[in-house]
Amino acid sequence: MVPTMGALHEGHLSLVRRALSENDAVVVSIFVNPTQFGPHEDFAAYPRTEVRDLALLSRTGAETAFLPAVAEVYPPGDDTRVVPGAIAARLEGAVRPGHFAGVATVVTKLLAMARPDAAYFGQKDFQQLRVLQRVARDLRLGIRIVGCPTVREPDGLALSSRNAYLDPGERRRAAALSRGLFAARDAWADGERDPARLRDTVARIAGDAGTPEYVSAADPVTLEELEHRAERAVLSLAVRVGRARLIDNVLLGMDVAQLAGA
Ligand code: AMP
Repeated sequence: MVPTMGALHEGHLSLVRRALSENDAVVVSIFVNPTQFGPHEDFAAYPRTEVRDLALLSRTGAETAFLPAVAEVYPPGDDTRVVPGAIAARLEGAVRPGHFAGVATVVTKLLAMARPDAAYFGQKDFQQLRVLQRVARDLRLGIRIVGCPTVREPDGLALSSRNAYLDPGERRRAAALSRGLFAARDAWADGERDPARLRDTVARIAGDAGTPEYVSAADPVTLEELEHRAERAVLSLAVRVGRARLIDNVLLGMDVAQLAGA
């Protein structure tokens, strides 16, 4: 299964291709999940391009799309939530209260409805991937949560449905997020291991896109902020650029494929 919120792009399609290459059948869900948006977030404005999405999926070879109505996922009187623990409290969870409970709940529901062997998620939303790996493990779902690499534009900007909100000037500035992350990754390759210096490098360069909401160097398994030199890290940040809130990350000292079940 590949769960999505639609407005599909090459990032989503890379997950579909990967799932198709490793499985006999793949179901792609498209569901803009109301419970993962805060009251002042972009639920109403979120891009909805279903006809185009279905054409892209069939061209990619996905045979089954699942587009449930809200009442199918949240039946009348629905009053049960999956609330992830500490791993969901920091970073995105700190800025977007309730967001990961919404994500964990909807993905658990979608997995219960489709009952796949495996579900594929992008590294782009790294904390989401880790939260869902913990949910699957802790709830004993028996479903592999597979992380796949981030697909990027030629200038480094991570593909995102929310990039559609950017005007041309904002779009150019938005490349500063990945520039900052890649500069820190270069420093890491040259031996830099001090998390504070790695964060500073990201913040200094990504600042060209706007003031980051956070810049983090964390342990990739627990997402606890690093205080000392470490041999693996995830650098991540969130920056508001115009109407869009952009997030991105890089993994250092390990690969996203090494995280399954961690
Ligand atoms: P969304 O529709 O934004 O909820 O994303 C659906 C899935 O696509 C999630 O697992 C995302 O992490 C993944 N995804 C989004 N953007 C990218 C990207 N640029 N590269 C790889 N995966 C992505």
